[in-house]
Amino acid sequence: QKCLSLIKKTKFLNAYITVSEEVAFQQAEESEKRYKKGQSLGDLDGIPIAVKDNFSTSGIETTCASNMLKGYVPPYNATVVQKLLDQGALLMGKTNLDEFAMGSGSTDGVFGPVKNPWTYSKQYREKRKQKLPGEKEDSDWLITGGSSGGSAAAVSAFTCFAALGSDTGGSTRNPAAHCGLVGFKPSYGLVSRHGLIPLVNSMDVPGVLTRCVDDTAIVLDVLAGHDPKDSTTVRDPVKPFMLPSLTDVSKLCLGIPKEYLVPELSSEVRSLWSKAADLFESEGAKVIEVSLPHTSYSIVCYHVLCTSEVASNMARFDGLEYGHRCDIDVSTEAMYAATRREGFNDVVRGRILSGNFFLLKENYENYFLKAQKVRRLIANDFVNVFNSGVNVLLTPTTLSEAVPYSEFIKEDNRTRSAQDDIFTQAVNMAGLPAVSIPVALSNQGLPIGLQFIGRAFCDQQLLTIAKWFE
Ligand code: GLN
Repeated sequence: QKCLSLIKKTKFLNAYITVSEEVAFQQAEESEKRYKKGQSLGDLDGIPIAVKDNFSTSGIETTCASNMLKGYVPPYNATVVQKLLDQGALLMGKTNLDEFAMGSGSTDGVFGPVKNPWTYSKQYREKRKQKLPGEKEDSDWLITGGSSGGSAAAVSAFTCFAALGSDTGGSTRNPAAHCGLVGFKPSYGLVSRHGLIPLVNSMDVPGVLTRCVDDTAIVLDVLAGHDPKDSTTVRDPVKPFMLPSLTDVSKLCLGIPKEYLVPELSSEVRSLWSKAADLFESEGAKVIEVSLPHTSYSIVCYHVLCTSEVASNMARFDGLEYGHRCDIDVSTEAMYAATRREGFNDVVRGRILSGNFFLLKENYENYFLKAQKVRRLIANDFVNVFNSGVNVLLTPTTLSEAVPYSEFIKEDNRTRSAQDDIFTQAVNMAGLPAVSIPVALSNQGLPIGLQFIGRAFCDQQLLTIAKWFE
């Protein structure tokens, strides 16, 4: 009840697209009955959880924040949603995002931008003379980051205890950093993508947003595992994920990738990054500078691969099977074209066009195949570093703290993604686990996060180290 009343009170954040109040209440009642009867309880029994609106939910509208899917009600649950429900979680609702998860601000969905709850924190308001919602001149606010900004705002505003995000190039970690949360991207193949409406199938993973690392481990424990409906999930994940408490980091070797020290990095993030490294060193860990030499190709390589997969993925939205269909009926082709023009925003249409260009017969080899080879080099950079004895990498998550909306929208979506995903994207191309942890507040009173990156399928080790640091 408290969470639902907070959802109502914080409606101005625009964190939720759909609030599933009745479903949550019914689940809560069932949970209470189980408890009263002394029946065994699930790992998440009675725990309010929100789900990004690009995961299919049976009987609940799933829009991807797009006109194209408005009114689409899936007949099945994504595997991860089903697993949460099987363990007794209460589904509070579906959270806002950039259309089809393409973005890094949660500003580009058809339901409007998500506002960062930290905009209204006392310290920030005093510094920036920020008005409260409803007061005059509340014309600007801080972005949440994205594309899982709705999920981040939902957890950060205490409307739920955990939320599912998705992470293709940083979409879980980036909003976690901007909203003062833990944002976890599991190893590719550890958690099922079945029912997650795809952006880039070869990079997408369901992500988890929580307020502390232990909570992430509890949720991950529920989500991880082989799924016959997703052939890319591995058969024998390390289970369970409950985290041992690490008291001694002296046997750890931490890598600091020198390529991540970019000129655009804010001085505050930079200094927190080096302080964090110093802390590990002072506790006896070995901290060394390492090189990931192909880092600078990552953004451009991601662009080619992402748009190519997008072009192919978006082909299914033709006005026949799902959601939106335009009124034009002069020909099938005209119907397809008008439906897609009306259904997709310009970011999605732009990516479809770019992707189809890269996939043209005359371009395929020069762009798509080349990008796949570069992707392998980027992935190998990480393998080489880990094989040299490094246990985890420590990097920033974002270039700076959250910025005001007015500033963010000055650049177009593509430029923004290129800048905002600089520390997160390569991880998706390599399929590695990574977690963003809130470390401190900036001078303006806003959260700053740092990222740990681990070896593939060493998710538990990664979270254990993150917990020590937390
Ligand atoms: N910002 C990146 C993009 O727009 C990543 C998005 C994501 O991780 N879903 O493609």
